[in-house]
Amino acid sequence: MKMKLIDSHAHLTSPTLIPDLDNIIDRSFNAGIRTIINICTDVPSLEQGIVLSKKTPWIYQAAATTPHDVEKEGEEVFDTIAKAARDGLLVAVGETGLDYFYEHSNRDVQKHFLRRYLHLALECQLPVIIHCREAFADFFEILDKEYQINGKWAPGVLHCFTGTMAEAEEVIKRGWYLSLSGIVTFKKSLDLQEVAKKVPLDQLLIETDAPYLAPQAHRGKTNEPAFLLDTAKFIANLRNISVEELAAETTQNAIKLFQLTH
Ligand SMILES: [Zn+2]
Repeated sequence: MKMKLIDSHAHLTSPTLIPDLDNIIDRSFNAGIRTIINICTDVPSLEQGIVLSKKTPWIYQAAATTPHDVEKEGEEVFDTIAKAARDGLLVAVGETGLDYFYEHSNRDVQKHFLRRYLHLALECQLPVIIHCREAFADFFEILDKEYQINGKWAPGVLHCFTGTMAEAEEVIKRGWYLSLSGIVTFKKSLDLQEVAKKVPLDQLLIETDAPYLAPQAHRGKTNEPAFLLDTAKFIANLRNISVEELAAETTQNAIKLFQLTH
């Protein structure tokens, strides 16, 4: 059986990837990628993403202003994203979240938009894709207060996870998914490799976060979904399972979380 992989997080309609998009999609398909969740972070990338989904139905759209940019344009972009969510054009709301490492936007503004996007996801019954860096205490506090259905956490994924094992456990106990990027393949990522061994297989997703963060073998290059196989092989090796089994499990998880139909 031929292996199928899902890239749960790539920025295909970002200015970096858009000029070579047809070739990038061809190379992804040839590398076994059968679904990509395209993360739109502003109005142009969302508009291009919606067009892309019509042409290539196995590429799905998610959208939100990132925590970096909410201070600059969170307000003006929110209604466009909310409309796309309400019109059924998105499979997830995100990436939203908190980033206190870079802190490009004021923390209170980041929290404000995280809450609004969580509420939008609940309203539209969509999962959320979360970016969280050095902000887990505030993130879990908001999540526990604002993102529940009948006393249970609504669904989501912590994308490009680089936190500690303790933080991973907090994600897992809420029934959420944890998504690992090419960072796990870096030589210095020893703690993250421990996390990769221990996450329950039915709560694990994989992603490229292209164009950022190419895996070790391609480091320094522009990342693209075709490189996902490197990360899949690396994690399978850490866990002593076949890459086929890792691919099958993570694909199943992504289908379930994003309720994919193609
Ligand atoms: Zn991203």
